[in-house]
Amino acid sequence: MMRKYLIAGNWKMNKNASESVALVKELVQAAGKQSDVGVVVCPPFTSLASVSEALADSTIEMGAQNMYFEKSGAFTGEISPEMLRHLRTSYVILGHSERRAIFGETDALISKKVVAALANSLKPILCVGETLAEREGGKTLSVVETQVKGGLQDVSADDADRVVVAYEPVWAIGTGKTATPEMAQEVHAAIRGMLTALWGAEAAQKVRILYGGSMNAANADALLAQTDIDGGLIGGASLQSHSFVQIVESARKLS
Ligand code: PEP
Repeated sequence: MMRKYLIAGNWKMNKNASESVALVKELVQAAGKQSDVGVVVCPPFTSLASVSEALADSTIEMGAQNMYFEKSGAFTGEISPEMLRHLRTSYVILGHSERRAIFGETDALISKKVVAALANSLKPILCVGETLAEREGGKTLSVVETQVKGGLQDVSADDADRVVVAYEPVWAIGTGKTATPEMAQEVHAAIRGMLTALWGAEAAQKVRILYGGSMNAANADALLAQTDIDGGLIGGASLQSHSFVQIVESARKLS
């Protein structure tokens, strides 16, 4: 089955609102009309409103980097799914390794967020991945399986085409160390198998599985050419238009 590539930029805690608009204008200019590849930018919360406006006439979509699962109320500092939808947000990154490691997010919490995202017409990008110690201890697949099953436990096969999984080995994030295409494909194929066990083969074939971890213009071709790599979640290389657009171009060539 032909899955459309998805290239998503995770800007993390970078770019104020004016810097965000400047970057997004460059992206719209370079890649804002094509529809062969899904392109998503995930700016910080403070830039969502202005980025949304700047994306209005383009094919580029917007994602958030996190959210809370409740509708509204006494949750100081949190943002609801409905607030994101109001700003025409289409995607939301959930369970990023930085949220798991720095902010103590558990699979149980992430699962609630995934359910709330889908209920509010937001497509979750569920991040999973092992640490270096876990890989060296031969635990990669069991760690990833716990995260995939934990995050998707309350999601049904009917929602498979709206779910995105991002495999992001923690040791490759922001380090310049990338999994080889073969290493990444091995885990992506295993994730496809986990999704098959959960939802059946037809639904599992619809899920886009992105690779994340020091993906850049130089290594994107080889990673994206792998059978089960359906796109990328890009951190550092998404902060400058030329490197991000080159990754989009890699995906277009393979489409
Ligand atoms: C990320 O944090 O999602 C990521 C993949 O970062 P980087 O590309 O900088 O490794």
